[in-house]
Amino acid sequence: MTHAQKRAIVIGGGITGLSAAYRLKRESEIRGMPLEVILLEASDKVGGVIRTEHRDGFIIEHGPDAFISTKPWGKALCEELDITDKLIGTNPKVRRSFVVRKGKLLPVPEGFYMMAPGAFIPFLKSPIFSLMGKLRIACDIFISRKTDDDESVADFVRRRLGNEAFERMAQPMIGGIYTSDAENLSLKATFPRFLEMEREHGSIIKALLAQKRNAKQTSRDTSGPRYSLFMSFDTGMQTLVDALADNLSGCIRFHACVASIQQKEQGEGWHVCLQDNEILDTDLLCIALPAPQTSKILQAVSPTLAEKLNAIPYTSSATVNLAFRREDMAHPLNGMGFVVPITERLNLIGCSFSSIKFENRAPEEYVLLRAFVGKTANVIEESPVQNKTVTTVLKEVTELLEITTKPIFSILSQHSQAMAQYQVGHQSLVREIEEHAEGLTNFALAGNAYHGIGIPDCIHSGERAALELLDCNQPM
Ligand SMILES: Cc1cc2nc3c(=O)[nH]c(=O)nc-3n(C[C@H](O)[C@H](O)[C@H](O)COP(=O)(O)OP(=O)(O)OC[C@H]3O[C@@H](n4cnc5c(N)ncnc54)[C@H](O)[C@@H]3O)c2cc1C
Repeated sequence: MTHAQKRAIVIGGGITGLSAAYRLKRESEIRGMPLEVILLEASDKVGGVIRTEHRDGFIIEHGPDAFISTKPWGKALCEELDITDKLIGTNPKVRRSFVVRKGKLLPVPEGFYMMAPGAFIPFLKSPIFSLMGKLRIACDIFISRKTDDDESVADFVRRRLGNEAFERMAQPMIGGIYTSDAENLSLKATFPRFLEMEREHGSIIKALLAQKRNAKQTSRDTSGPRYSLFMSFDTGMQTLVDALADNLSGCIRFHACVASIQQKEQGEGWHVCLQDNEILDTDLLCIALPAPQTSKILQAVSPTLAEKLNAIPYTSSATVNLAFRREDMAHPLNGMGFVVPITERLNLIGCSFSSIKFENRAPEEYVLLRAFVGKTANVIEESPVQNKTVTTVLKEVTELLEITTKPIFSILSQHSQAMAQYQVGHQSLVREIEEHAEGLTNFALAGNAYHGIGIPDCIHSGERAALELLDCNQPM
């Protein structure tokens, strides 16, 4: 580091920290600001929960398997990293998914979006809901909007569409994303789009019908490439992590677990204390960790901030990748996968038919499934003895899909306390956290605790933190 050069440290090498470090490096170069960027990662690899394994022709996702394309930050970063040629969409031939009802896989009716129908005929024909349930869902058209604006997802769906819409569809769909039951999740913090729908159209069903009409019109009016709703990469999600890491070569320090930070007594800067007692000095500091870890690191600097961060609950989850011979599958696997309502009393939250959902995930004669279990499951173990989780998941998956043979392999990946739960009141808690963080100079927070848990949200969070730090240090 030269005398004029400043230093920026990013703590945490998941997608958030990688995006923050990348943006700090790129943007400081563009602005002509001499800046040394260091990314500190506790483990021996970057990517955090994102990890792809290649084994015998299978492409196995240990964590996330896709990102949503309607939030722009994922695609934009891929364009900048020049990896758009590696992007793939989901299989256009199998758009549907299934939901489990009384132990059977039933197709989600065409046009149904999370909690409400966007097309009437498939909805009316669907055996998922009773006649009374269907009538209750249709009442959404007549129910007036509510003014109180922070409501749980469960309360919102029950109020507008009734209990069946919640228990049989919304809960499993949302549970599959947030690894939690939707009783306490804040609608405003997780699915604000539904609030806008209610506000603009007075009804979710009317909003979905209008959306469908607009989509038809747009597809008539526009041409050129269109992205699939969910995207991955031909060689798996690791592609994004590797591209970022390549751009940060020389900046990443592995096995660098941060224990605490301290503000410098003189000047505006930070001491970053590693677990092995090494102390690094830095001018700018970004913590890109899940809230519980951030809280621990911040304890000495601001006990109040640490306490507020601890108030964001996190849950653990696990994926189990299972490979089978194609000929052993009784189910046609004519969809992207299935989700499981809590009322089914299984441990599974859902299961993707990975090699159907995306191409080239398994050799020709095989299929790859990726099952997902969350906090509510009794089987998630933190111990190295992993058999119970795999055995339980395997039993449930094979019963639902009527598979009678053993898998070729099963791979368990545990993600301890990795998924933030945005409960009712989340946004005001985050506002308080941000107000406290703003009081600390040359300091920024980023990650999945604040404004979204999906990969594009985390990228945006990391990039925004980087730009804030640079803006505050712009030479006059
Ligand atoms: C199983 C699972 C499936 C998911 N599926 C999807 C999906 O399909 N699509 C989607 O968009 N999102 C998905 N998500 C959500 C999304 O992947 C995460 O929110 C996001 O990847 C979090 O990234 P992060 O960098 O904020 O945190 P993390 O990935 O948790 O990374 C934090 C990093 O910090 C390091 N670290 C921890 N403590 C320290 C310390 N003290 N010092 C230094 N380093 C430290 C860790 O080793 C880790 O590398 C999924 C999440 C999980 C758990």
